[in-house]
Amino acid sequence: MIDLHSHTTESDGTFTPAELIAEAKRIGLEALAITDHDTLAGYEGARDLAVQAGLDLVCGIELSTKFRGRSVHLLGYFPNREPAPEFREWLGIMQKSRYDRNVRMAERLRSLGVDITFAEAQAKGRSLTGRPHFARVLLEKGYVSSMQQAFDEYLDESAKGYVERQEADFAESVERIRAAGGISSVAHPIRLLKNDDERLNEMIGGMRDCGLPALEAYHSDHSPADVARYEKFAAHYGMARTGGSDFHGANKPNIQLGTGANNNLHVPLTILTNLRGL
Ligand code: AMP
Ligand code: FE
Ligand code: FE
Ligand code: ZN
Repeated sequence: MIDLHSHTTESDGTFTPAELIAEAKRIGLEALAITDHDTLAGYEGARDLAVQAGLDLVCGIELSTKFRGRSVHLLGYFPNREPAPEFREWLGIMQKSRYDRNVRMAERLRSLGVDITFAEAQAKGRSLTGRPHFARVLLEKGYVSSMQQAFDEYLDESAKGYVERQEADFAESVERIRAAGGISSVAHPIRLLKNDDERLNEMIGGMRDCGLPALEAYHSDHSPADVARYEKFAAHYGMARTGGSDFHGANKPNIQLGTGANNNLHVPLTILTNLRGL
């Protein structure tokens, strides 16, 4: 069993890189990819520890991109070698747009009467601040009684406290990952469209036309029927499949590393072997 989607304290997870490696060893994972939002810092912090622990660690990232006007999370994997320096420079631009969004989000929340500053959210994380850090401040100050309620009432894309950020173009992101020696995969496709296979088919076809090589068929939010649907799309478009739990530690308490939500995940090593051969 492997897990190709996980987050550390360097983005919005609650496990440090060292704790995540320890957890991967404890549950007997054959390989782990760290896919923090917009940063390689978690992977870099885990790299030597993984070697010591004898764990196959894959360098990964999760980017927020724009495809036909909607926000799409794109995973990037560098299973054979780490990305070139130009790619890291480009990540700096992503981090800047996130920073600007965070400043505006704190202002928006204050305009809604919430006593919160960007610095308070920032203090909950490390190199990078995300919405789960804002959610934690809202929770600790008693504005909400759970992380989920913080998203539902304030931070979800449909909620009153949400602000847009400048996102990278989807096709450009796919190409930059490819140029850096990596493989991109659309994260949790369940969030693209629900219950409309015809439009989803058209959308995935459009992504394929942008050069997208893979799809995250296996994810904690996918039911067995969803998995079957994404396997079918991947086969139809000749795309590879990836999979992982999207583990965030206590920020997504129902999700376990490797096994997902209520044991609904089991990604075999052959998935990674296949990616390495692309
Ligand atoms: P950000 O990259 O800062 O915009 O934050 C995105 C992260 O917030 C996601 O990766 C999830 O961890 C979390 N998130 C986004 N939307 C929701 C939601 N509706 N419910 C729970 N968590 C969410
Ligand atoms: Fe996240
Ligand atoms: Fe995501
Ligand atoms: Zn994720």
